[in-house]
Amino acid sequence: MNLDMSMFCVLCGSPFDLEPHIYNIDPDSEHFKWTYDVRLLCNPPALCHLQIDPSGEIAKIDSGSSDVFLSEITRWHMGDGDFFVLNNNHYLTLHNDQTGNLIFPLHDACIQIAVKVIDLDRKVPSRSISTLSLLYRSLCWKFHDRKFYDVGMGMDILGLDSTCDECGPNSMLALSSVSMWSGDYERYLTDPLKVPGITTFLSSILETTPQDGNHSSQTLHATREPEGLENLPNELLDRITDFLPPQSMIALRRVSKTLAVKVRLDHRFWRNNVLDGTLLPHLWELDGAGPELERLRGESRLPNDYIWNWRSLAELLSRRQFPISRRDPRLEGVPDGYWNRCRIWNIVKESLPFDHARFA
Ligand SMILES: [Zn+2]
Repeated sequence: MNLDMSMFCVLCGSPFDLEPHIYNIDPDSEHFKWTYDVRLLCNPPALCHLQIDPSGEIAKIDSGSSDVFLSEITRWHMGDGDFFVLNNNHYLTLHNDQTGNLIFPLHDACIQIAVKVIDLDRKVPSRSISTLSLLYRSLCWKFHDRKFYDVGMGMDILGLDSTCDECGPNSMLALSSVSMWSGDYERYLTDPLKVPGITTFLSSILETTPQDGNHSSQTLHATREPEGLENLPNELLDRITDFLPPQSMIALRRVSKTLAVKVRLDHRFWRNNVLDGTLLPHLWELDGAGPELERLRGESRLPNDYIWNWRSLAELLSRRQFPISRRDPRLEGVPDGYWNRCRIWNIVKESLPFDHARFA
């Protein structure tokens, strides 16, 4: 690690306190305040065993689930070491008790993003285990897994002190000294929940994307005899796909060239499923209201016959990645907060094992 951070959120690798002599930013700016809002996530036994003041009152359980504890929002200051304070009691974090339980300090924003990712991943909510409990058990599993194999630094349980060839450092933990001095950390510290300018960014993508080609005129150049579903008449295939969720329809088109032509996804399919959050669930702003969003939806005001290319927008943003080189020029104006949200979303989705059977 190049940056001396004594305590950080294991979901995003960003700190809980910003001191002006370390970061060349205004610590009171609205963009960075989210880093101060921390919650402790653990199970009830960990709360008892890792409380340092034995006579103190145990903090109140308020996660709505008996198997997991989520604290109210608290604050950590440099100099607090491994301890967090709740109701004037000190709790030791990221150290396991004798039965392997531990307390994770996490940004409130990162928890909110993780809950969205897990809920999407599970599709059908389980009565046996809450989303927060699944998050806690997944983090515990990673903690003990890395401890067992003695991989990397103790607190970096998701391996965030690493760099992706395509997109660069995965977190502030992997920034070089040069990057730190040049202020490259700022976007890692920008609020991932409230993103000013997000709809302007989406509008600019739509406005600079060429119109979609006319897919109905696509002709089939089959390289082999059709098989299975490919043999069905288009009308019958349409009736079947009417019952499929949008992601399954897109996946079906990728099965073969024949199905790519026969499974027809028109402009309305892409537009409606982007705007209702189905295809780009990390862009929850699309579900809201406001003049910018109305403009985004207001295709009636576009010149005659012009239709925004929602398919291209969905494909561009669905991976939530921003390559360093050879990046699509439409991504140049990406707001820092949206960039950070995508980074945290991908960390949760790719690093945590939401194996329901394992944790049930
Ligand atoms: Zn975080």
